[in-house]
Amino acid sequence: MTALVRKSIPIVALLVFAMIIVGGLIRQGDKRREGSFVAMGGIPVRVVAYDRTSARFDQDLQAVEKEVERLEQMFSRHRRNGEIANLNATGRGCIDASPEVLHLLGQAKRWYEKSHGAFDVTVTPLIELWKAAERANAMPDERARAAAAARVGMDKVRFSDTRLCFERDGMAIDLGAIAKGAILDAAAKVMQGRGVRRGLVDAGGDVAAFGEGAFNIGVRDPFSSDRGRLMGVLTMREGGVVTSGDYERFVTIEGQHFSHIIDPKSGNPAQGLASVTIIGPNATDADALATAVSVMGRDRGIDLVRSLPDFGGIMVERRQDDSHVIWCSRGLMPLFELTSGWEERPIPF
Ligand code: FAD
Ligand code: MG
Repeated sequence: MTALVRKSIPIVALLVFAMIIVGGLIRQGDKRREGSFVAMGGIPVRVVAYDRTSARFDQDLQAVEKEVERLEQMFSRHRRNGEIANLNATGRGCIDASPEVLHLLGQAKRWYEKSHGAFDVTVTPLIELWKAAERANAMPDERARAAAAARVGMDKVRFSDTRLCFERDGMAIDLGAIAKGAILDAAAKVMQGRGVRRGLVDAGGDVAAFGEGAFNIGVRDPFSSDRGRLMGVLTMREGGVVTSGDYERFVTIEGQHFSHIIDPKSGNPAQGLASVTIIGPNATDADALATAVSVMGRDRGIDLVRSLPDFGGIMVERRQDDSHVIWCSRGLMPLFELTSGWEERPIPF
């Protein structure tokens, strides 16, 4: 009897201990909150916090939505009376600009320099040229190309702490290739400022994550128009993951698809890479770099990513025979797992 009691004490203790652990896990799991809203012309924005009560999370979500709306009004060229929209409507001379717009332009300029002009937020006249070509269903002619190219170039934009000047008439700014990342980072900062210790903000597959531990982030399938279809899953620590690809937005001329990303030097749509996923310390820089690499193509893109120790990349190269090759930064190889159906092994670089 005594022996039985003696034996059962550790068993009971173990059971109680296990119940505490399981209870703890359930409580932890209970605190994962998720909510979403739509922004930036129809992009679903998903907000996740891992350590929140439901009441506080509702307020977090509202605060994030408010911040996204505030920045969207400032950065979007689609917003009537937005700062960038007003600037583009003028298209000449100098205007007063807010510190946040000037700060983001400063970051855009840094990527313009790092990418040797491949990333250029003044590319709008060339984008408009290709949109007009789509409407006419005819390739743009040389004269029209030269006229548009003359109004493109970050070297023709001057800005100080308060003002922004175009050196040529008819210039415009499109922050679409960097502002989504900046908005994700700002949203993550709002959550952190409110005391969320671990969470993420996801805008259509582009993510800013913060806090301790690992995050599993889905990388979109570049050959599917279904946003939910994945090519693989990337395990990351806090930072940003952004994918640029030609699967969602493109122009069609004479039955041929062209990327919405334009090479500012040649004036032609980017070619060769079906998608570029960049992982980095924040979403702003990952966004800009993903677009830059899309323009630069495989070899120059790989060289640029390799030269930046804080960044890694996964690229899907489209071959002429319609096959494809996946390239992956050496350091990301153990962290990237392809979903089934993607049998080929990525080539490390
Ligand atoms: P990315 O590669 O990140 O960006 C591609 C975009 O960058 C192109 O669409 C073009 O605008 C620009 N670009 C092209 N070539 C270059 C280059 N060489 N260097 C720099 N930039 C280049 N879409 C709507 O349809 N309606 C909206 O109202 C709307 N509002 C938006 C508001 C905000 C604040 C943002 C950030 C985006 C908004 N968008 C909207 C989406 C936007 O138009 C772009 O499609 C989107 O930002 C592109 O992101 P991406 O991830 O597809 O590609
Ligand atoms: Mg981008």
